[in-house]
Amino acid sequence: MTTIANNKTLKDLGEVGIIRLIQGKVSQKLPSYVKKGIGDDCAVVETSGERVLLVTTDTLIEGIHFTARTLSPEALGWKALAVNISDIAAMGGTPRTAFLSIGVKPDTEISFIESFMAGFKALADKTGIILAGGDTVESPSSAVITVTLLGDCLPEHVVYRSGARVGDDVWVTGPLGNAAAGLFLLQTKEFAAPSGYEPLVRAHQRPMPPLDVGKALAESGLAHAMIDISDGIAKDLGHICEQSVVGAVLWAASLPMSSPLLGLAAEAEKEALQWALHGGEDYELLFTASPADKEKVQSLTAKHSGRPAVKVGAIVREDGILLAKQGTEVPLESGGYLHFCK
Ligand SMILES: [Mg+2]
Repeated sequence: MTTIANNKTLKDLGEVGIIRLIQGKVSQKLPSYVKKGIGDDCAVVETSGERVLLVTTDTLIEGIHFTARTLSPEALGWKALAVNISDIAAMGGTPRTAFLSIGVKPDTEISFIESFMAGFKALADKTGIILAGGDTVESPSSAVITVTLLGDCLPEHVVYRSGARVGDDVWVTGPLGNAAAGLFLLQTKEFAAPSGYEPLVRAHQRPMPPLDVGKALAESGLAHAMIDISDGIAKDLGHICEQSVVGAVLWAASLPMSSPLLGLAAEAEKEALQWALHGGEDYELLFTASPADKEKVQSLTAKHSGRPAVKVGAIVREDGILLAKQGTEVPLESGGYLHFCK
């Protein structure tokens, strides 16, 4: 077992190192009823019924994930649930019950909780989720919001990160980079009153994970591997490759980018491709499927979301991810947001 020197801090380990440290402290051999533990979008646990239980949890921290400037309390309530729904969608499941834990300062206005709950409930009602419990605690400074979401799925329909096969096409369900560009707008004074850029701000504040598409892909058996794009496609495709022991080629010219994103990138002299590759918080689905199923994938995704998924790359045997751009292929760094590394 790895021993960590006393004078080192979590900063030296990084997020992945911390997860490995935690994993090393618990039993490596899972009981048979835990079909998937650490390492996918949800844990998958057998029940006495015919469906398996999907469990996911996510925390949003003031100052890291949001500020009063970037998210209103109502948008925060919506988003805290949305990021968890996205993980259930990535397994092909149906969300059922949520548990909400809130840590806030005692002098927080009551209207904060009222607005937060209005946003939370709006999305819960839309997706048939019941709030079934949680915790409320006092926080000395920043607001801390944790949502745990339970869902379910037939075991044969669950889509894992580990199922990608050499030769598979790589697909995404919608535009990339919008949320990152929206965050840039909200943080940048000269764009404080954006006009024409509302879809970007909306993508950051009110993401709507493609739950129906995730479920339809899982039930159809078309998706071999699936993940939600929370940390940026570069990093999340990396997770698929790692778990499936394959590599990938990503085609820069095929990545779906919206007109507002391209417009803002030109106006602000930013690189739209960087937002699309590394921006994160897209909450679209990334999945792989057989090239033989191309038409089926397009028609199924169009039917369930109104727009067909977009083919953005291919799974290859060689390790790592290559970015194909203007006739050349260069290794793609995973990028994305790194916790504990500031
Ligand atoms: Mg995820």
